[in-house]
Amino acid sequence: MEPKANPPGGPDGGKKAGSGARGEQGFPKWAIWALVGLVVLVLIVPTLMRGQSGDKITYTEFTTAVKDDRVEKIVFDNTTGGIDGVYTNGDKFHTTGYLGFTEADRLMLEENNVIQEPATPQSGFLAQLLPILLPFALLIGFFWWMQRRASGQMGNIMSIGRSRAKTYSSEHPSTTFDDVAGYSGVKQEIREVIDFLRSPAKFAAIGARIPKGVLLVGPPGTGKTLIARAVAGEAGVPFLSVTGSDFMEMFVGVGASRVRDLFQSARKMGRAIIFIDEIDSIGRKRGAGLGGGHDEREQTLNQMLSEMDGFEATEGLVIIAATNRPDVLDPALLRPGRFDRQVIVPLPEFSERLAILKVHSKHKRIAPDVDLNVVARGTPGMAGADLANLVNEAALFAVRSGQDVISASHFEEARDRVMIGQRRESVVMNDHEKEMTAYHEAGHALVAAMLPGCDPVHKVTILPTGMALGVTMTLPTEDRHSLSQSGIEDRLSMMLGGRIAEDSVYGEVTNGASDDLRKATEFARKMVREWGMSKRIGPMAWGAGAPVFLGEDWMQTKEYSEETARIIDEEIERILREAEDRTRQLLHENRKALEMIARALLERETVDGREVNRLIELSQAPATSVGVAASALPPPPPPPPPPPVPLV
Ligand code: ADP
Ligand code: MG
Ligand code: ZN
Repeated sequence: MEPKANPPGGPDGGKKAGSGARGEQGFPKWAIWALVGLVVLVLIVPTLMRGQSGDKITYTEFTTAVKDDRVEKIVFDNTTGGIDGVYTNGDKFHTTGYLGFTEADRLMLEENNVIQEPATPQSGFLAQLLPILLPFALLIGFFWWMQRRASGQMGNIMSIGRSRAKTYSSEHPSTTFDDVAGYSGVKQEIREVIDFLRSPAKFAAIGARIPKGVLLVGPPGTGKTLIARAVAGEAGVPFLSVTGSDFMEMFVGVGASRVRDLFQSARKMGRAIIFIDEIDSIGRKRGAGLGGGHDEREQTLNQMLSEMDGFEATEGLVIIAATNRPDVLDPALLRPGRFDRQVIVPLPEFSERLAILKVHSKHKRIAPDVDLNVVARGTPGMAGADLANLVNEAALFAVRSGQDVISASHFEEARDRVMIGQRRESVVMNDHEKEMTAYHEAGHALVAAMLPGCDPVHKVTILPTGMALGVTMTLPTEDRHSLSQSGIEDRLSMMLGGRIAEDSVYGEVTNGASDDLRKATEFARKMVREWGMSKRIGPMAWGAGAPVFLGEDWMQTKEYSEETARIIDEEIERILREAEDRTRQLLHENRKALEMIARALLERETVDGREVNRLIELSQAPATSVGVAASALPPPPPPPPPPPVPLV
């Protein structure tokens, strides 16, 4: 935070951040140049002033002129030996003689009636002092400048006490609940707060106590900030918003004073909403984390707690906070009288996604072939922010392709972009790699299509995207909230399907499946450790163990014996091996389908889910039609080295 000590109308009034703001307080550039100019002037001017008027002549010329009686008057300088003179005709001249005049010279001057005026010019007081003071001045200036720079970077050490930096922004948002699509449950829960803010007196008369604090809990991008603004907009009250990390400073006590400041300003406004975004950054459990906690954070939190206690619930002040990590919050924050109401803002369901998509495509030109229902269906797990981004990406694709409306294909492209990643045109696979990838993805797709626990295949591609050489994309037909054990096992099979397909076709595997393996192992570990899906371990669960940096206690005591640890490892291995066997069996039985899908991938690079299902059906059809299908197939490639496959 760069404190703005100047009033808004001041020079540079907050227009430029960084260097500009620093310039206000340190040396502006022009001042440095002005200073340098001044020094030069002071040093040079006296020298310039001292004579140097008239022609410069040699000493010999001078004496000759004297002898010729052409000189009227001279002024000679006792310190430099400089001589300024005036000829009898009024012209001036300048020369340099010996220090003092010899007797002969003086006699000569007298003989020729030259008026003599010896002078010992005093150089200015400043000019004498300057050579001594200048180095000191420069040194002091340099250190000062260094310090300003350093403090600018470290949050302005020197001005910390002075500037009551305004870290919050205050506004009257025009956002209303109409801008928040879906989430009727959340709106319902929060409506009360709006009623209260509109007429606190009504509540006070009955003696009803409204929650002082509402905590919005939900994954990032689900619209928590949006909802908080909408509450202020609906209630027509000022909205003071800060982010938790704004309170954090180098210096202990600054955060606390900012909290005090914030609450003071809010009180002055009468009715207001204080919104604290990302409250977990200050509200973390105290006395936890590395190094025995953070004094500054604790003081800030303590100040917040006492401020929340300090105002009456009937005053007309409501605090809304948002977080996606409610588990790390200090319990003192959550007790009654503080953030005693928690409102969960979950990832949007299908109907909510549809509503959000509608809100964000309202002012965009959408082609009639776009069915937002389909888009909403195909975007499970996306938060509101992702959906807003998706619509925008689709619009960008439309612009890029030179069209003036957004059509369904643009939405499709945008979704692939968001979900799978950017296509990597630069990756060129050789034929063998391409074939391997085709079998790998065909393996994934075949398993996904055959096992009921997997989501239906949406599309398979061997076009390199993101970090992968190929992608098999599945999409759920409906939002899922839980998974059965058999469903999980089917998914494990699908993850392993790619690697096993490679193995069964070529007799060896590539290193391309490491990500699949990692995911599968993670899944199996969770089955054993968290979901109680292993008979040998039984109905026990151990959490994943929050990462250290989140402020949980650092030393997590081991929760199970060495013996149990060994069994867990064994169970994970067993689950993975069994899944591998099942998958191998499945691929073996459907070898023909695998070949056909791989073939189709090599020909077309991208195959959609319906096509995958059709190929599987075709491969299972009775002998007569198999003949037709088989004729379309090349002979299955034998184990390595594989023959070059004709590519279209
Ligand atoms: P959070 O604070 O939960 O991380 P934001 O409130 O910042 O999320 O939401 C980010 C953006 O996502 C919003 O600006 C809005 O464009 C979009 N968005 C999220 N949820 C919704 C919703 N329910 N209706 C409309 N837009 C939404
Ligand atoms: Mg937010
Ligand atoms: Zn894979």
